Amino acid sequence: MKPIRIAIVGLGKIARDQHVPAITATACIELAAIASRNATLDGVAHFATLEELLAQAPDIDAVALCTPPQVRRAQAAAALAAGKHVLLEKPPGATVAELGPLITTAGERGKTLFASWHSRFAPAVEPARVFLANREIRSVAIIWKEDVRIWHPGQRWIFEPGGLGVFDPGINALSILTRILPKPFFLTRAELSFPENRAAPIAATLDFSDASDLPIRVELDFLQTGPQIWEIRVETSDGVLTLSEGGARLTYAGVALVDEKQAEYPALYAHFVDLIQRGASDVDLSPLVHVADAFMLGRRVTVGRFEE
Ligand code: NAP
Repeated sequence: MKPIRIAIVGLGKIARDQHVPAITATACIELAAIASRNATLDGVAHFATLEELLAQAPDIDAVALCTPPQVRRAQAAAALAAGKHVLLEKPPGATVAELGPLITTAGERGKTLFASWHSRFAPAVEPARVFLANREIRSVAIIWKEDVRIWHPGQRWIFEPGGLGVFDPGINALSILTRILPKPFFLTRAELSFPENRAAPIAATLDFSDASDLPIRVELDFLQTGPQIWEIRVETSDGVLTLSEGGARLTYAGVALVDEKQAEYPALYAHFVDLIQRGASDVDLSPLVHVADAFMLGRRVTVGRFEE
């Protein structure tokens, strides 16, 4: 079968660190072009904007939108209208409702729309889901604390409206939790800390529950120094299950069940190829809905200025 010819839009950190190597490593898909205002990649066709790419490169089958969420809807709409399959980096948009018309257009055009949640492809996530499927769960505690200065240098968009602030990494934890818990859950309380000079939170605490009154506590912090923590701890009637290192490691009752190098993006691209080949889409908005709820229900606290 002819390989899927994909273009990356926005050659920033995640495109360089993950998308370029993952596409190279995935069968049936090849990197055919880049749309970047500022950067080029040796040996790959370059266009300054998505519009130029759509007008001048008709042989592109798919685009991966690696731009900030605030500009993604318009890019996705243009790409779908031009008959391309679309991979959206997470979060899939700057609002929940903007995804509706994209889902409709993808269906009408018979194109794949993939709202990717890379953390769901971490090696310990599926084993954790299977493990929890028939267990009595008593509580969940998430600690997702990282240093924004290390992981997001120069990314001003992250503290602009729609950039999500600390929920940019925090939504990864919610994307895992919505996958591994057997029942749906909902927000009951939240406190969001906004730096006085920024439009998005730098820390948050959240409480969720479900129909069985399961307590779920989430702590997010963007100013973590020292060890960086991306951990989900699930207390069951049989013992404690811990997903750590963002989903790369799984321990149960202190014993490591999974401990693998992160390999999220090759699995993510294999799924995108499979969706295209099956003529299907995959758009789960549940992590974004929880974040929207946090902005709706959360008490806002103003904290000190944040300077990089
Ligand atoms: P980034 O380093 O700031 O890269 C984003 C790129 O998008 C920029 O380099 C720029 O590319 C383009 N861009 C920026 N502003 C734009 C605008 N106003 N209009 C059009 N293009 C614009 O950010 P990133 O870390 O790669 O994150 C991008 C997305 O991936 C975010 O949604 C983020 O949540 C997600 N993500 C990031 C990570 C991570 O670890 N960094 C991990 C997983 C997912 P050009 O200069 O090439 O045009």
